[in-house]
Formats: sequence, structure tokens, C-alpha cells
Amino acid sequence: MAYDKSDHIQLHELRFRPYLETTEIQERVTQLGQELRQRLYGKKPTYLVMLKGAFMFAADLMRATRLHGEVCFVRTSSYEGTESGGTVRMHLAPEPDLVKDRDVVLIEDIVDSGLTMQAFLPELEKLGPSSVTLVTLLHKPEAQQVPVKIDLVGFTIPPKFVVGYGLDYDGLGRQLPAIYQLDEAY
Ligand code: 5GP
Repeated sequence: MAYDKSDHIQLHELRFRPYLETTEIQERVTQLGQELRQRLYGKKPTYLVMLKGAFMFAADLMRATRLHGEVCFVRTSSYEGTESGGTVRMHLAPEPDLVKDRDVVLIEDIVDSGLTMQAFLPELEKLGPSSVTLVTLLHKPEAQQVPVKIDLVGFTIPPKFVVGYGLDYDGLGRQLPAIYQLDEAY
């Protein structure tokens, strides 16, 4: 689909162009939900949501699985502006009881360098889950610096900064129902 400049959005000093439409995202999330339903049928998974970026994806994905399960939130950070800072910090840890002997669906917004998952997955394993299924809405394989075993990917994208559908730029853009890509022409 062609877009004109009026479809661009501005967040702080940066401009972004439309990249993934709402309907495309919803269709893919429905497929991911069905795939998870098949893999975990008869189980009651713990949906472990990486805050803040994955909250919108997680809400849609959980509904699409139509599986009963509990929800748990985790918060880490590594990003400063549009660049990964390299050091991963944990601000909110998972509730141990919701992980031990549970089938965990780990819901991430985006795997970029892979450093967040590289740091977090061993911490999660220490809590003794029965299984971990890592689902990420977006994956930037060209930006990945360390290997990460991802079970399900929504969209594989180039290594450009994106916002919308839960993802922010410096606090803004999370409410957008579609995904936008940084327009470096500005
Ligand atoms: P990684 O540790 O894999 O480099 O990055 C993981 C986290 O960085 C993601 O959960 C997300 O919060 C943030 N991130 C990575 N790429 C982007 C991007 O293009 N846009 C936004 N808004 N956040 C990103």
C-alpha cells in the first residue's frame, strides 16, 4: 500500500512512517494464538509479559489462544532513546509461584540484540518452569548479537527503530494501533 507524508507521525523530534498496518498485525496475532493453542492445548500456561513494550501484544495474543492461564509481568530495561544500552536491568521480577512447574509463555515485543533474552532466560530457568515458549511479535535478526532460541515470531523486520502497538520512543507512541518505522530522511 502507498502512503503519503500525511500518514507520518512525529514523536518528540523524530518522524516515523507507517510500517505494519493494524489489520496485518491482528491477522498475524490471531495465527500466533492458534499456534500456541495447538502447542499448549489442555494446559494452563502462565503468560509472562515483558513490560512495558509487550503489554498490547500480550493482551491480544492471550485472547487469541483461548487458553485459561494466569498472567505475570516482568520489567527489564536496556534501551536509551533509539539505541540499546547493552546493560540489562531487572526492575520487576516474575512471581516465583507462577513460574515453578508451569508452562510459561514468555511474551516479548521485540528481539533486537538478543541481550535482554540472553540475560533473562537463565533467571527464568532458575525458577523451575515445566517449559518456556518464547513468542516475540518482532525480530530483527540482522541486529542480533547473541543467539536466542525463539519459538514463535510475528514479523521479521530490518534493523530499524519501530514504534506503536505497545512500543515507544522515549515514552511516546505506545497507544498507536499500527507499527511505524523511523524515517531517517528527516
Ligand atoms: P534487545 O535486548 O534484544 O536488544 O532488545 C530488547 C528490548 O529493546 C525490547 O524489549 C524493546 O523494549 C527494546 N527495543 C529493541 N528494538 C526496539 C525498537 O525498534 N523499538 C522500540 N520501541 N524498542 C525496541
